[in-house]
Amino acid sequence: MLKIGHLYPDLLNLYGDRGNIITLKNRLVWRDMPVEVKTYGLNEDIDFEDLDILVLGGGSDREQLLVCNRLKEIKQDFAQYVESNGVVVAICGGYQLLGHYYKLENEKIAGLGVLDIYTEQGSPRLIGNVVVQTDAGEVVGFENHGGRTHIGSHTPFGKVLIGHGNNGTDRQEGVLYKNVLGTYLHGPLLPKNPQLADWLITRAIRRKDAEFEALPILQDEEEQLASFTMIERLKTK
Ligand code: GLN
Repeated sequence: MLKIGHLYPDLLNLYGDRGNIITLKNRLVWRDMPVEVKTYGLNEDIDFEDLDILVLGGGSDREQLLVCNRLKEIKQDFAQYVESNGVVVAICGGYQLLGHYYKLENEKIAGLGVLDIYTEQGSPRLIGNVVVQTDAGEVVGFENHGGRTHIGSHTPFGKVLIGHGNNGTDRQEGVLYKNVLGTYLHGPLLPKNPQLADWLITRAIRRKDAEFEALPILQDEEEQLASFTMIERLKTK
């Protein structure tokens, strides 16, 4: 049984990020693999030991501020989950919150500090379609962020082929750390890139069963074709 935890969907829910949960769940259901999704409200306790995949969506600056106070309380447990190879998918606002801080003009939003990264608000907003070259193949998504994220010595999720990425200057997108994926890509990310959903699911299963080799193949030619078509369209524009 894989247990997926969705953190604060009432606040962190931009651009259909909920679709990431639906994709993770359905790709397990379609393979007859047991899965449970648990959503957490801001004041609910999170049983990290019970979770296999944790998803944090994107949010506006205002919503991030609301979440940030709560993060202080779960910081320790979150870090322990990450260090024990728990899988995390954090999108945009959620990604920024994994770092030390997100600095706005007059405010500083404290993050979880599980990644050694920081974000500063800049102008203009970085908006548009993105294609990234990653270890899980070419990934397509959509970005819309004011924050510029600097990842220091962390490994990026990938190299920006189209779009802006972490900060619009170094051509890097996101971060991969242990089993944590932080990225600016909405879209939502996983329905648009089904291979990435399987890549994350595989990591979650291997954490429990080191012998696990590969997921059964799914009949998903249409999803694959949609992803491929979008990537080709953006690359040949
Ligand atoms: N509020 C953050 C920013 O503008 C994150 C936005 C988002 O999640 N799309 O940088």
